[in-house]
Amino acid sequence: MAATEAVTERFTLAEPQPLLIGGREVRAGQTFPAVEPSTGRIWAQVAAGTAGDVDRAVAAAQSAFETWRESSLDTRQALLWAVAERLTRDAGRWPALLATENGRAVREAGLIDVPTAAEIFRFFSGVVRDLHGRTIPCGPGAHVSTTQRPVGVVAAIVPWNSPLISVAHKLAPALAAGNTIVVKPSELASVSTVEFVRLVQDLFPPGVVNVVTGFGHDAGRALVSHPGVAKVSFTGGTETGRRILGDVSNRLVPALMELGGKGAMVVCPDADLDTVTEDVLTGIFAANGEVCFASSRLMVHRDRYDELLERVSARAEAIVVGDALDPATQLGPLVTARHRDLVAARVQAALSEGAELRAGGRVPEMPGELAGGSYYRPTVLASPDGATSASCEEFFGPVLTVEAWTSEDEVVERVNRVAFGLANGVWSADLAQAYRLADRLDSGMVWVNTWFATPLGQPQGGVKASGFGREGAAATLLEYTATKVVHASL
Ligand code: NAD
Repeated sequence: MAATEAVTERFTLAEPQPLLIGGREVRAGQTFPAVEPSTGRIWAQVAAGTAGDVDRAVAAAQSAFETWRESSLDTRQALLWAVAERLTRDAGRWPALLATENGRAVREAGLIDVPTAAEIFRFFSGVVRDLHGRTIPCGPGAHVSTTQRPVGVVAAIVPWNSPLISVAHKLAPALAAGNTIVVKPSELASVSTVEFVRLVQDLFPPGVVNVVTGFGHDAGRALVSHPGVAKVSFTGGTETGRRILGDVSNRLVPALMELGGKGAMVVCPDADLDTVTEDVLTGIFAANGEVCFASSRLMVHRDRYDELLERVSARAEAIVVGDALDPATQLGPLVTARHRDLVAARVQAALSEGAELRAGGRVPEMPGELAGGSYYRPTVLASPDGATSASCEEFFGPVLTVEAWTSEDEVVERVNRVAFGLANGVWSADLAQAYRLADRLDSGMVWVNTWFATPLGQPQGGVKASGFGREGAAATLLEYTATKVVHASL
């Protein structure tokens, strides 16, 4: 159990959070409570945006688009850099806010979320200079050129698990490309997005960046269905992605979809198990396992299966679960009691289907105010033949399933059998084998002898039920532009 002496003072927001529309703070008619996962305590009131609020936000973004679309690359470059500067200057306040909001351990939030979000703005501040068209040789009688034009108002819908990073991945490229934006954060993590945009919105002309908080079925649906929206950029669950695509299909609105995952780590017989053990623990237990890239399936060659299963289970049992605000905590609470119960039910289902419990699998007893939190012990399930639902469903929690394989054909077939195709990995001392396997795994990303490596410039995104479109790379700018051709007869 983590010591609680070092816990920073708990956040409580006295004022209800506003909507941010047209450069102004707007009070909503209704609010809903934000619940702290570590304690179950209500710590803020969030605006429940309505279809009317969405109308106003889209109108503000449409009006701002008329001038922002013509802003110079110099201006956009400078403003994106200034966002990163403000975020970094203010870095100290974010980790505790993020930990309060979604249960991410405070030490991770400081090390990962804030620097990554700032880096995303710096990256797009740089690559915006490369937003250019082409000339196309079409013979002596013609001059044909292309430009990349902004599309208009972007509707950005983001999840709760890494709100600052998710919002940065939408805002930075959309604004760099000359669009305006309305962001709808998750109802489970709205405060950080509102606070972030409040911090930086005066840098931009009014209406360029707007935030409407509220529920997915209400504000979210109204936003993606709004006739003034020219592009939807969504990060979240696969089922929600399907619903949104259904809603936008009539209007033929293009959409970028960053959806769920079921990452497999394929461990070959000659892999260095010290490295693998560290990578597995980070891959599945960082951010409480609530990560789309989580390595939730550990697929070990049969010769090393018992040894690695033993090592990983022992280390999982030793992980410190506690208050997200406690710097000693390695794994915080899951985002809600409901989500924790869903993860626990999925573990029970896997056990009843034949998986063996090797670590965790239980709700820990917590002292004092933490008793109201939504904690779950890091869990390891052994399922050598991969025949349970734990091998194909996304748990989005701290649950690792360990499987055994014998031949390359077998492991490739089993990895590719799942609906998702976001991130997989291969561990091998034999790079020829590693590349051979990497080539055969169906996913947008394959890591070799590492996990979670997502430097900016490297496109992030999935295939199959994990979605389409790529974030975090120079080409992401093209997701937010339309190619326009001018063909002149000379
Ligand atoms: P979710 O799909 O429940 O919600 C995501 C967002 O969609 C929220 O803001 C929600 O309010 C909104 N929403 C819900 N219904 C809507 C509708 N009908 N119309 C418009 N908006 C709607 O997902 P979540 O629980 O917040 O996040 C977890 C999921 O996100 C996991 O599946 C995870 O893998 C995925 N995720 C993917 C990536 C990636 O880059 N691929 C990154 C982070 C999370």
